[in-house]
Amino acid sequence: MKIHNFSAGPGILPAEVLQEAAQGVLNYQNTGLSLIEMSHRGPEFVDVMDQAVALVRELLNLSDEYDVIFLQGGASLQFYMAPLNLLSSNGYAAYLDTGTWASNAIKEAKRVGKIEVIGSSKEKNYTYLPAYSVPSDADYLHYTSNNTIYGTQFQSIPECEIPLVCDMSSDIFSKPIDASKFSMIYAGAQKNMGPAGTTLVIVKKEMLGKTGRSLPTMLDYSVHIDKESMFNTPPVFPIYVSMLTLKWLKQNGGLPWIGEINRQKRDCFYEALDANPLFKGTVEPSVRSWMNATFLLNDERMESAFEALLNERGISGLKGHRSVGGYRASMYNALPLDSVKVLTQAMNDFAQQHG
Ligand SMILES: *Cc1c(COP(=O)(O)O)cnc(C)c1O
Repeated sequence: MKIHNFSAGPGILPAEVLQEAAQGVLNYQNTGLSLIEMSHRGPEFVDVMDQAVALVRELLNLSDEYDVIFLQGGASLQFYMAPLNLLSSNGYAAYLDTGTWASNAIKEAKRVGKIEVIGSSKEKNYTYLPAYSVPSDADYLHYTSNNTIYGTQFQSIPECEIPLVCDMSSDIFSKPIDASKFSMIYAGAQKNMGPAGTTLVIVKKEMLGKTGRSLPTMLDYSVHIDKESMFNTPPVFPIYVSMLTLKWLKQNGGLPWIGEINRQKRDCFYEALDANPLFKGTVEPSVRSWMNATFLLNDERMESAFEALLNERGISGLKGHRSVGGYRASMYNALPLDSVKVLTQAMNDFAQQHG
């Protein structure tokens, strides 16, 4: 049976990418070696890394002002590493608290220096995006573009005069964006780009070397930039698969192409949700996420019957995060529109049977 994979992360990757990656693990381009058993400094892997960086640059249309590196430690390490590299010792940074990941970022940044939370939606369980005004004297503004767990998403880039830093882990490469508005973007690979194990960091050169802080070598962006992500052994497999996914994106038409498909998926899902009498969305409709749609059954007693139907239809990964409950349909780039149609059909059929 075909499985429709709505997993929130690690998330679905294109089938053809997994095919090629499997081949590369067994015998990389007829070298007789696996990609994961050769030197990362050899021509084969250096070429993979160069292609990955070039694809990131091309897809996001990055100017030479930006550096692109692949690190380890997940997006969670960036919660600490970003302020360590960007926050001056006598200044402060502004943060928006819009969900679990945003609040984890705040917690770690506070270990480094002074943080001001300029807006929070915590008191309503992060079901909306707060109003805020950006202070002009902060070192930077940090926000989370898509709140993976709660299912809200910024519908536009915050207007701001100070440098903008964004955790884009769960919506990077999901639609065209103006990357020139950001001073730094980071994203764990495993939501919308590749396997877990690498984190993409895009940072403007002018942001670095200004804190006066002596940085541990491994936590210093400049070190990784100088060594082109090869200061130590990079996570070769996740970078390889990320490169293949970015190539898939480019070959199919890049961000305009995927943005249109993701818009269709969003419209298809939320229209069906709003028309269905048995279900309701959990967040303010104007800020619903394109990537992670969170929803509930009005009557919790129907959950086991609904879950049985999901199993029957091959719908996988729909369980909501434990802090929200209910359901979460993650519709990352590699999830086809057809899978969303299978889900909305199942929800409609369920309403027919039980309405
Ligand atoms: C998943 C996620 C994280 C955490 O990523 P790790 O790579 O597991 O550290 C951080 N931010 C967002 C927005 C996420 O979706």
